[in-house]
Amino acid sequence: MTHPVASPTSRISGFHKWTPEARIECVAAFAGLGQAERDQLSAPSNIEAQLGDHMIENFVTTIAIPVGIATNVRVDGRDVLVPMATEESSVIAAVGNSARQCYDTGGFVTSMSGTQMIAQIQLLDIADPRRARLLILERRDEIERICNACDPTLVRFGGGFRDVEVRLIETPAGTMVVTHLIVDTRDAMGANAVNTMAERLAPDLARWTGGRALLRILSNLADRRVARARATWSCDAIGGEAVRDAMIAAWQFADNDPYRAATHNKGIMNGVSAVVLATGNDTRAVEAGAHAFAARTGRYRSLSTWEITAEGDLAGTLEMPMAVGLVGGAVKIHPTARALLSILRVETAEQLARIIAAVGLAQNFGAMKALATEGIQKGHMSLHAQNVAFAAGAVGEEVDAVVRALIESKSFSEEAASAALARLRSH
Ligand code: NAD
Repeated sequence: MTHPVASPTSRISGFHKWTPEARIECVAAFAGLGQAERDQLSAPSNIEAQLGDHMIENFVTTIAIPVGIATNVRVDGRDVLVPMATEESSVIAAVGNSARQCYDTGGFVTSMSGTQMIAQIQLLDIADPRRARLLILERRDEIERICNACDPTLVRFGGGFRDVEVRLIETPAGTMVVTHLIVDTRDAMGANAVNTMAERLAPDLARWTGGRALLRILSNLADRRVARARATWSCDAIGGEAVRDAMIAAWQFADNDPYRAATHNKGIMNGVSAVVLATGNDTRAVEAGAHAFAARTGRYRSLSTWEITAEGDLAGTLEMPMAVGLVGGAVKIHPTARALLSILRVETAEQLARIIAAVGLAQNFGAMKALATEGIQKGHMSLHAQNVAFAAGAVGEEVDAVVRALIESKSFSEEAASAALARLRSH
């Protein structure tokens, strides 16, 4: 199909069969994108060398990552088309399929604990750490003034210092006095904002306590910025009680075994990181936060939970730190990230974070359902087969023919693809 009509909903069937041009047209109509944004999305390699050279050091080139759109996603009663940047096949299809299966039961409901980040200041060589702790806490008002004076813009947008906490950490090198600055960074991810405050305050803390300030840096364990998503899949929609019960057993395995939990959470991050990257946010920050949060009880566990409701349906929840912004970092300056953000039609960083949590939950549902039923390879490898066919040198219509041959032979190696291609060309 080459001439889609504007879709008022995210529930678009057959989107995967359209041409890329038709998809851009549909998404642009859905989100009300202007011509400049459409042109940006249509450009295959879409960052100028001059900008790249400005963004990082020793710039030489760019590497393009495909961006696709997840359909069928409904978050808090609003349909969204979600841009996802990923090099891995089947990730976007899984979100669309999973979201379709809970669309009629209301889609995803989300919330957030707040938009506060934590900066840490490490003090060493303090003889009386308990007294030092109180010396710092007594100066809360002064600390607030110093922090807020660092960033009047943030304060103007309703953010700024919120609280101070002091922790004593016992180490083989002695007791460390670690101050936490708790700062609301609103629509910024906030790393630079809180790092500036920590660096500015550190000499004062050292003077007040007689200690020596060493590290001054944010914590990526952003547990005051936790995004939450939940959704219910009806037992019928997912294929009955056997599928439901198998998914519960799959989750219990993950929640009780770190070897399984690592892969389970990696599946969640397949969705999360793809949206974080597409919107120009810091994937490493979100990933570090996710895994530290998963281990917060002292044992590495699943970020999601799965239960059977009183009605016998399947209810999933996801909670994880989500330090993403709409300003700062690359978000504001990368033209494609900006165009992709426009598709989401979010006005606050919190709205973005909540959509990302919904995508993480959808991804988790998709992976668990596949694993607990047909196995991951059936869906995954038929998509992966396309990459293998390309790698073997297939072009144009050869690609589909080689993919079919690989699926029939259930062998997805590059040798199998080369052999299939050779057979095809010899006919
Ligand atoms: P930034 O400093 O570029 O932008 C944030 C600033 O924008 C705020 O301090 C505020 O002055 C201003 N602002 C304007 N409008 C605002 C609004 N509506 N809400 C809030 N602030 C507003 O960026 P940042 O968000 O402080 O830092 C993000 C960057 O820091 C990312 O690129 C990240 O990769 C990088 N970083 C990350 C880490 C880490 O995660 N460990 C460490 C260092 C740097």
